[in-house]
Amino acid sequence: MKYSKMFAKTLKSAPSAAETANHRLLVQAGFVRQVMAGVYTYLPIGLRVLNKISKIVREEMDAISAQEVLMPMLHPSALWKQTGGWDKIDVLFKIKSRTGKEYAMSQSNEETVTPLAKEWIHSAKDMPLAIYHINWKFRDELRSKSGIMRGREFLMKDMYSFHANQADFDTFYAKAKVAYMNVYKRLGLVAKATEASGGAFTEKVSYEFEVLTDAGEAPVLYCDKCDYCVNVDDIKTYKEGDDCPICKKDKLKLAMASEVGNVFDLGQKYTKAFDLTITDGEGNKQYPIMGCYGIGISRTMGVIVEKFNDERGILWPASIAPFTVHLASLNTNDEAVIKRADEVYELLNKAGVEVLYDERTDVGAGQKLGEADMIGCPIRAVVSSKTQDKIEVKMRNEKEAKLMTIGDLINTCKV
Ligand code: ATP
Ligand code: MG
Repeated sequence: MKYSKMFAKTLKSAPSAAETANHRLLVQAGFVRQVMAGVYTYLPIGLRVLNKISKIVREEMDAISAQEVLMPMLHPSALWKQTGGWDKIDVLFKIKSRTGKEYAMSQSNEETVTPLAKEWIHSAKDMPLAIYHINWKFRDELRSKSGIMRGREFLMKDMYSFHANQADFDTFYAKAKVAYMNVYKRLGLVAKATEASGGAFTEKVSYEFEVLTDAGEAPVLYCDKCDYCVNVDDIKTYKEGDDCPICKKDKLKLAMASEVGNVFDLGQKYTKAFDLTITDGEGNKQYPIMGCYGIGISRTMGVIVEKFNDERGILWPASIAPFTVHLASLNTNDEAVIKRADEVYELLNKAGVEVLYDERTDVGAGQKLGEADMIGCPIRAVVSSKTQDKIEVKMRNEKEAKLMTIGDLINTCKV
């Protein structure tokens, strides 16, 4: 992608209303635009990041044999009345059509996935079944101040699993937890799985996947020496400074965290509401057990920016960076530089490297390098009148630049 062709460029100054780093940096660097509180447009480079996060999530869900579908965002009110959500869920957006019909905007998809699965689940042999989709959710959130971390419209991966018995559920549940940890690891995040239920004596387990960040809304108690992490609002047994109840090797610390995903045991709530039954060996009707598994894709993008930024801009993890290389030509009054930089751009493209090429001839070196840092691609490559047949390469997270051949640069990109 040539920078001059990119319609959405960086801003000279930060947006005035931004209270969080993700809001400020994503707007200033040209990744998103706020349409209203909690509602954003994803610009070309922002959409690239969002799509890369989705791709990683998709690969990990496919790896545990979940099947992807695309369910609607506009639902008939009848489905939500059948589960009671129509009256109980305060964040549900409700719409009335011109003919007086009522609809709900998807805030989650249990109401559409359960009747869908009912069409094919008739006996224990039809399970386990896991269905997921990646789609926008709508919630009438009262506070939407954390940039893309709390939207009124946001992108979620939601998966739903169906099981003939608790043991089957437990097996899949454990796999899903591992898949979640893989997702966060590939995104460069350290997520702690809280046990919201807190102990071994509860029947229904649920986990929240929390990333420590001051921009988060959930106070958690955690241990640095082991995986112990609990949401303070759920578990009041311990306080900051207590010994870790699990490993006893460290004191518990209190921090703010953002919930980037969660997994729930739904029990038979929805299979009962939609009368999804199977017949067991003795001819008795049984309601399958369901699990639901969410990942806030757009929130996770915000959390990544909160975790990886400095005074100059964003530092994207390579796995989801909008481009691997930010190539800039300096001293563009020198024809040889332009020729050489164009050539490097072509060779990188040919090698399959994703490059953003700042080839503008009317912009100074300082501004080009400043914008490269703000956008935050992992590798900066510079061609100038000093670099001759080499390229000056600097990692976004390092201070020193190195002179490299094009071959070395391509190899660096492949790592
Ligand atoms: P929260 O407590 O943060 O409101 P939740 O318990 O309502 O989250 P779920 O309904 O289980 O969340 O949604 C699954 C995931 O979707 C959450 O773990 C979170 O990552 C994301 N999510 C939930 N609400 C929002 C929102 N308003 N904006 C962006 N992402 C969200
Ligand atoms: Mg919520």
